[in-house]
Amino acid sequence: MREMIIEKLKSIVGQENIKTDYDELERYSKDETSSVEPSVPIAVVFVNNAEQVSDILKLANQYKIPVTPRGAGTGLSGGAIPKKDGIVLSLEKMNHILELDLENMAVVVEPGVITDEIQKLAEENGFFYAGDPASSESSSIGGNVAENAGGVKVLKYGPTAFHVLGLEVVLPTGEIVNFGGKMMKNVMGYDMIRLFIGSEGTLGVVTKIILRLIPKPKYSAVLLTPFGDMETAVSCVPKVLCESGILPTSIELMDRYSVEISSKFLNDNIPQQGVDCHLIFEIEALDKESLTRAYISLGEKLQQMGALEVYIADNRHQKMKIWKFRKAIAEGIIAFRPKHCMEDVGVPIKAIPALIRSTYDIARENGVEVLNFGHVGDGNVHVTFLKPETMNEEQWENSMHRSLEKLYHITANLGGTMTGEHGVGIKRKDYLNIFLTQTEIQLMKKIKQAIDPNNILNPNKIFPDRI
Ligand SMILES: Cc1cc2nc3c(=O)[nH]c(=O)nc-3n(C[C@H](O)[C@H](O)[C@H](O)COP(=O)(O)OP(=O)(O)OC[C@H]3O[C@@H](n4cnc5c(N)ncnc54)[C@H](O)[C@@H]3O)c2cc1C
Repeated sequence: MREMIIEKLKSIVGQENIKTDYDELERYSKDETSSVEPSVPIAVVFVNNAEQVSDILKLANQYKIPVTPRGAGTGLSGGAIPKKDGIVLSLEKMNHILELDLENMAVVVEPGVITDEIQKLAEENGFFYAGDPASSESSSIGGNVAENAGGVKVLKYGPTAFHVLGLEVVLPTGEIVNFGGKMMKNVMGYDMIRLFIGSEGTLGVVTKIILRLIPKPKYSAVLLTPFGDMETAVSCVPKVLCESGILPTSIELMDRYSVEISSKFLNDNIPQQGVDCHLIFEIEALDKESLTRAYISLGEKLQQMGALEVYIADNRHQKMKIWKFRKAIAEGIIAFRPKHCMEDVGVPIKAIPALIRSTYDIARENGVEVLNFGHVGDGNVHVTFLKPETMNEEQWENSMHRSLEKLYHITANLGGTMTGEHGVGIKRKDYLNIFLTQTEIQLMKKIKQAIDPNNILNPNKIFPDRI
């Protein structure tokens, strides 16, 4: 059967676009998620167009083969990890920018384009693509759509969904459908674009994306603010948002340990590195004078609220240095603390101090270490539990699960979500019912069943094995 399927796949994409040797399969057996076991598929198939995707999905339906779409494999919930008896459908060769339509402020791309390329192209033409996950140099736009990726600019510009005008999708049964276009408004029936965005490769394979561009913000400044204690820092986030009259592009948190890890990863430093935590604010303005007024006013408020100092970066080099430092935290954790569990909970902004406080209690009660960083301005915190050196594997597994369960219950009680941007995938599926009722989960399952009757597309994701 396996050989027959591989022959049929070769006839669709050509011999050169299939990998079956173990080393290659092993590479596609995992993503960047730490706490999920890899799983080696029977083949990796590289597609070049929507018709090939369609033919593969028709074949998969005929023989009931699980298919896992894959972008760049940077996911943090195990979404691109295949089933052992399944195939990986790699979109990485569909990496062309198809059209830059400046008169309509839109760009049309294939899913395998790396996000950073879109940002650069927009900027070179005086425009701005506002999707900005910290992984923008390595993740694909198709993966961003499938996960509804967030990032450091969500506070002002929203997650990926806010920038998608249209999609071409190959349904699990092989039909090719198109929703949306280059227009800004569209209420023609159900919002199908939103249904596919964030569906984690379970409802369709995205093969073309129309993205919205906006005018490039003229001036911006980044404020780096060290705080002597975490409580003071996070308490000023809701106050800044509600009282300053300024909507920053970003408010990011880096606790002391996150700063240490990033510093080690980059072999670089930032001011006042030993303090409890730093907040980063980015603000934008139409002219230099308004920008200066805004950062002076914000800086004064932050000092009144307890910031130890306010460092202002208003040239490209200084701003990039701060953002590079912030964006390297996740890479540093992956590199230096491979036994970790990076979470992605989101709460209403007023609940941020309570959420952060609870993470220290959870860590202490379960004997693990914890660090906190992330997008505090939109309530999304990457609470990360770390295995202490002295703890053995079995103790770590148990402590990690207990810590996660407690974190999720607290988050749910604060009115929050289990995942703000990384998705449920395999990693979090068994905890879904802490947040959703049986009726809510069943409604989602009915949608999956209607679109994918044979359950072949990324079948082992999102839903708990037992509910
Ligand atoms: C260092 C680091 C920093 C990160 N920072 C952020 C961040 O700031 N914000 C954030 O949101 N995430 C972040 N991530 C997570 C990750 O980069 C995002 O989830 C990203 O969107 C995944 O894109 P990808 O191309 O790597 O997708 P993959 O990992 O390949 O796949 C992710 C999911 O999308 C599905 N998929 C991929 N392509 C398609 C397609 N064309 N059609 C249908 N389904 C598809 C897969 O099946 C899978 O379920 C970070 C990851 C790392 C390693």
